[in-house]
Amino acid sequence: MQYDVIIVGGGPAGSTTGRECAARGLSVLLIDKALFPRDKPCGGAVSIRAAVLLPFDLGPVIERTTHAIRFSTCRKPRLTQSAQDPLIHFTQRRYLDHFLLEQAKKSGVTVREGIKIEQLDLKSSGQKTHVIVRAGHETFRGKTVVAADGATGVTARLAGIPTPRWRGVALEGNLKPKGGFPQQWEDCFGLDTGDIPGGYGWIFPKKDHLNIGVGGLSLGMGRLKNKLDILMRAEGWRLADLVDLKGFSLPIRQPCSPLANGRVLLVGDAAGLVDPYSGEGIYNAIRSGQIAAKHLSNFISGEEVNLAGYQREMAETVLAEMDMSLQLFMLIHLLPLKIAERLHHDEARWPLICKILRGEGEYSDLKQGPPFVWPVLDFLLRPAAFPFVSKMLRVLNR
Ligand SMILES: Cc1cc2nc3c(=O)[nH]c(=O)nc-3n(C[C@H](O)[C@H](O)[C@H](O)COP(=O)(O)OP(=O)(O)OC[C@H]3O[C@@H](n4cnc5c(N)ncnc54)[C@H](O)[C@@H]3O)c2cc1C
Repeated sequence: MQYDVIIVGGGPAGSTTGRECAARGLSVLLIDKALFPRDKPCGGAVSIRAAVLLPFDLGPVIERTTHAIRFSTCRKPRLTQSAQDPLIHFTQRRYLDHFLLEQAKKSGVTVREGIKIEQLDLKSSGQKTHVIVRAGHETFRGKTVVAADGATGVTARLAGIPTPRWRGVALEGNLKPKGGFPQQWEDCFGLDTGDIPGGYGWIFPKKDHLNIGVGGLSLGMGRLKNKLDILMRAEGWRLADLVDLKGFSLPIRQPCSPLANGRVLLVGDAAGLVDPYSGEGIYNAIRSGQIAAKHLSNFISGEEVNLAGYQREMAETVLAEMDMSLQLFMLIHLLPLKIAERLHHDEARWPLICKILRGEGEYSDLKQGPPFVWPVLDFLLRPAAFPFVSKMLRVLNR
């Protein structure tokens, strides 16, 4: 059988692409090397803006929904900001990803678990071109392929697509506090800035435990573990109390990095779509999957002659927001701590932050201030400046 679309990877990006392609009437095969439910290193925070993209309720896999954020600087609690509407859902990836994959199956996607992509070839016969995917001693034939195999995926490389990335690292573990679930975190999550140049620490409340982690673009795993230890002790816990300690890469695409080539598209982490400022990856995984499905469908029906429309629409939407997020990242991490802290805790910006988390606003809404400021910052904080900024952050860390 020849599938319209073969998707490699069944995380949020792959399952969303698959579900939306199947809903548009395409035949879809999705393969994943793991057997679901499987875990994935992740804080499990799903912003409301991510949840509302989906045409179904995530209720069955949401463990907690919060309306407030406790901001701290270098582990000193500064301010708790609350909102009327929910801001973030918290889940566990083994449940979320399984649930999303089940929705894809229900839409008609054929799912093969426990098989790994090994080879990818383009074949042409007469006017017809198709893609051959070899995985787990089997051969699959498709008209198009989607690389949704995450931060360490190989599909893009097998397809000859370069993937220049800036790589961050994050480390997280779970804690069941002695004496029961702390009341303080019932409806609130914690963000700690200032201690990790180019990153932050978090405390995320789940049903019966807390997920605690640190991540960023400037530190290696060893230094991060040290920061996690410090964060834990500041809250009165010990690093040794954390279970399931896991670290993984946060891939951020460099501006020149292609998202499509020939009959192959990249989505989610495989495309390097982690938000540089927030570290959030699930939102862009879902969004890129939706945009990919639209252009795959148009290509298969002959409405579009190639898949370049995907790169174009991504540039106008997701990538434009990522550039803005990169600017915010550079701005916040280059400013002296006191000023950065004031920006984070600015009462006037809080409603805007809530709007962004809920998908009712965009990063560009934060561009406020005297009229000359942003044109100057836009010029200084171009994506091309990022390698210089991240080098500076590394030096600051010595
Ligand atoms: C420690 C940490 C904490 C994070 N916390 C958050 C958070 O709280 N909220 C948030 O929004 N984002 C968070 N992120 C980012 C988020 O986890 C990712 O952006 C998100 O998982 C991307 O989804 P994806 O579908 O692109 O890839 P993935 O979820 O990584 O899925 C890729 C899939 O591909 C499969 N695969 C890989 N290689 C192959 C192969 N060769 N053959 C077949 N299958 C293959 C894998 O088994 C996997 O199922 C965090 C990241 C880290 C590292």
